[in-house]
Amino acid sequence: MGTAERVLAYGGGRLDRAGALRTDPTRLGALLGEPTTVVLPLWRDRCLVDGDGPVRLTAERASLVRSAAGETVFLGLDGDTAVFAVDLSALDERSAVEMAGAVKSVDVRALVGRLDADDAAVQAYARGLLHWHRQQRYCGTCGAPAVVGGGGHVRTCTGGECGRLLFPRIEPAIIVLVEAPGSPGRCLLARHAGAAEDAYSTLAGFVEVGENLEDAVRREMAEEAGITVTDVTYQGSQAWPFPAGLMVGFRASATSEEVRVDGEELLEARWFTRAELRQREAAGRTLGRVDAIDHRLLHDWLAAG
Ligand SMILES: [Zn+2]
Repeated sequence: MGTAERVLAYGGGRLDRAGALRTDPTRLGALLGEPTTVVLPLWRDRCLVDGDGPVRLTAERASLVRSAAGETVFLGLDGDTAVFAVDLSALDERSAVEMAGAVKSVDVRALVGRLDADDAAVQAYARGLLHWHRQQRYCGTCGAPAVVGGGGHVRTCTGGECGRLLFPRIEPAIIVLVEAPGSPGRCLLARHAGAAEDAYSTLAGFVEVGENLEDAVRREMAEEAGITVTDVTYQGSQAWPFPAGLMVGFRASATSEEVRVDGEELLEARWFTRAELRQREAAGRTLGRVDAIDHRLLHDWLAAG
């Protein structure tokens, strides 16, 4: 099965986003009062957890929390259960933890492996959406305050003549497994500035304005590693709301094995055979971050030869 057919961490999930409800504030208000409704409290991009994992507030507790907190957003329906998230970022950490009845705050990525995939997806979604609200308090056109609406999926500029609608931002990035020409099969990994001495990873970069994804792959590979690539093929994508990413994975073929790094963003790039990667893994080095698409790209490539 290819990367595209399998859901990577933070995507998929059982939540029905129920977009039609976002424009029904009466119904959303009623859902917030229902005893079965779940409200997930977050604090500055972090989950609030107790001994069992992320805290799920009951309607009663949530109404107390919401009166002292920032935005409440509607995430969707889990079966018949409405799921909301509430932002406690205006409080200090201790107050947020106490108010939520939690014991501490933890980054969602630190919970991967302990959370079920659906719960990780919901927490990441909540984190990304609440992060956007904190960054989008004002209209970028006229500078007037922007107020939340649409169940937390839009903000509206309050500047009378402007009134612009502001939607959550997503910043796409490409991540690429580049193969060398000829045999044996080799793939290109690079050591990034700031990474540990023997830490190699796939090449990646943000998509720029006016580029399609394949353009971004070709440009980034030329800029970062001095290589020309062809046969750019889509492998899959991953929600990456840390804070606003969408990672789009590709494979590409280099036309030459000559590599030239800039020495600033990338310190070194070199070709690895499958045997070398397996040796590294056997020696305890993970191939990419286990929750991230680069791990999947590398393992799919290993499995293909
Ligand atoms: Zn405006």
